[in-house]
Amino acid sequence: MTRSRAQQSRVFWAEYAWLGGAAQPQVNDTGVLAESVAITIEAGRITDIAVDVPDVPVGATPLAGLTLPGLANTHSHAFHRLIRGAEPVHQTNADSFWSWRDQMYEAANGLTPESYGRLAADVFTEMVQAGYTTVGEFHYVHHERDGRPYNDPHAMELAVVEAAQSAGIRMTLLDTCYLRAGFNKKTVDEAQLRFSDGTVEEWEARVEGLARTLRGRSTIRLGGAIHSMRAVSPDDAAMVVRWAGSRQLPLHMHLSEQPMENQQAKRYEHATPTELIMRSGAMQLDAAFCVVHATHLLPSDIKSLGARQTFVSCCPTTERVLADGITPTKALVEAGARLCVGSDSQSIIDPFEELRAVEMHQRLVTGVRGTHSVASLLAAASTNGYNALGWENGGAIAVGYLADFVTVATTGDRLRNAATATLPSAVVLGANGDDVHHVVINGEVVVRDGRSTRRPSALMA
Ligand SMILES: [Zn+2]
Repeated sequence: MTRSRAQQSRVFWAEYAWLGGAAQPQVNDTGVLAESVAITIEAGRITDIAVDVPDVPVGATPLAGLTLPGLANTHSHAFHRLIRGAEPVHQTNADSFWSWRDQMYEAANGLTPESYGRLAADVFTEMVQAGYTTVGEFHYVHHERDGRPYNDPHAMELAVVEAAQSAGIRMTLLDTCYLRAGFNKKTVDEAQLRFSDGTVEEWEARVEGLARTLRGRSTIRLGGAIHSMRAVSPDDAAMVVRWAGSRQLPLHMHLSEQPMENQQAKRYEHATPTELIMRSGAMQLDAAFCVVHATHLLPSDIKSLGARQTFVSCCPTTERVLADGITPTKALVEAGARLCVGSDSQSIIDPFEELRAVEMHQRLVTGVRGTHSVASLLAAASTNGYNALGWENGGAIAVGYLADFVTVATTGDRLRNAATATLPSAVVLGANGDDVHHVVINGEVVVRDGRSTRRPSALMA
């Protein structure tokens, strides 16, 4: 019997590789730089690693530069790409998060399953070419513009999933519960109609149907999301938490991105958003729980997020664009939280820019050079990111792990002359997505010489 191509073993030979990092998942700064590494893969998993292999083995694919583990984009809204850079040219933009949100709603309301599928395929192709191997798509554009379900109730979700499959990126579809326009509202506003299932029971019924529809897709998983404590009442949030717990699926939520969310939570619920979600069962949830932004927190919020080792998805390039503020990553990590990163609004799609911004923003705030080590930043994008999205054996170049990795060329103008010992630092602090030359996802070469092998002309069309 002949084995299919995906099941045959295949060898890659990396000039340099960042190994391990996952053997001790509780330790953020493990990982080691190795030279001349032969990586054998079979059926989408790494089955063998040999270091100090001087010559490229016969039949192996050489990877020149530094090969990193797969990098996870833990927070994405693909359609936000439509309003990238859409700001006035000749005026300053004395604007707020809330007016940007109106612009974003307008973009959302123009989407159809067909147009969203095309757009998302381009966005996911841009992601893989920049070095992201997995994406957590925080998806809430569920229904027709007036809120009625499509004839196929999963049309929008399938458009996004199939876009990911066509680009070759691994995906956790975070199906988002979105039921009200604010803490003092019972329902959504007109511009949010297509985000809402009406009730949490309807949301759950639709997502259960989606789970059945998605079964059997090896690079696609499902997770749940609560849009925010603004958009879901504490009682309904508790239902979503219970659902994620009973299915052992990851749960994500926007948290305290803007001061107004905290002010309204205090006014109407006499609590912080963190207190509300922890009381709704998140503190006891043993599936992965990831909060997004976590910008405006009280010391007691930081303590409780840290105590349950919550994942915190930082999206610093978006947080800059939206004037959100700076996530207190130093205090969060010290309390026990686990960082990961996301491209969120797609204003920039570049894992290296997100990673160094996490550190550089702390430098600006603290006056200290070096809050987060380069190794811990790499762990944030790889192991932590994969775990936050429910891929437990992903995000490390280690035997038994998913065959996802990213090779950064180090001979271009930006990185040439970097010393070998500090190559990982040179890449994290100095590379950008254009330096990514090869990307392997699920054992398949998805990017070769910087371009998608799946959709080579997608971004030229
Ligand atoms: Zn978001």
